Amino acid sequence: MDREAQAVGQTSSHALVDGHTHIDQYGPTELPQLLERSRDAGVALIIAAGTTIETCTAVRLLADIYPDVRAGIGLHPADLKGPMDDAIEAQLRTLADHPSVVEWSETGLDYMPRSPRWDIQQDAFRRQIRIARELGLPIVFHSREASDDTVRILREEGAGEVGGAWHYFDGSLELARTAMDLGFHISLAKPLLRLPELQTVAAALPLERLVIETDSYPQHFKKNRERWTEPWHLPQVAAKLAELQETDVATVAEATTANYLRMLGGRVSAEELGIATAS
Ligand SMILES: [Zn+2]
Repeated sequence: MDREAQAVGQTSSHALVDGHTHIDQYGPTELPQLLERSRDAGVALIIAAGTTIETCTAVRLLADIYPDVRAGIGLHPADLKGPMDDAIEAQLRTLADHPSVVEWSETGLDYMPRSPRWDIQQDAFRRQIRIARELGLPIVFHSREASDDTVRILREEGAGEVGGAWHYFDGSLELARTAMDLGFHISLAKPLLRLPELQTVAAALPLERLVIETDSYPQHFKKNRERWTEPWHLPQVAAKLAELQETDVATVAEATTANYLRMLGGRVSAEELGIATAS
């Protein structure tokens, strides 16, 4: 077996999907190497989520350039500059109507201090759920200090029709079950490595409803560049989840990858990513 075939074989056995990142925010000179490190770690697909009109344009461009990147289109609640009007909605709809856009993300609610007004956030969330339903795109959403309103709006807007995932989940088992009942997956990130309560929750959740992510973005608040989270850290999340679920990494990799691709409703196939699937 030559080295290339070996590399592909290695990737196939533990091919992972990093379901939520903001890799567009890294510099264009850094990105090719970041993606190389990710591929070497077995990350077969990275979703880059937009948070503003500008970054939505950027992630779409990335997805057109790199075969292992796809885009999410959406407005992050914390990045709202004011009410989401019809003109912004039209821009987003145009951006989302493209083959490399595979989900609606990032959207949601963020009730941290200094966040935009809640009524503005809720209106933007509702509008985005409606566009996602119209386009048939799964919704990968953010929720911070806003679980009750998030669940209520998802339910009232019939978001379960398109499904998706609760990104960076760190809530209770009861909340996870509510989200799953509504038709959503639970997306786990690096907090799984250090939060005992989240570990207990993750151990009790059905593997067929779990996906994983790194939420990578340039962490300038960490002085040491080596410590910034990148997609190549994803195997750490997979390994922790395997330990908690009392299974092996290959099982977790296969399940979370299959779950993500199923969630995307065939917009990305295992074949085009070079992933061998059991089924
Ligand atoms: Zn995000």
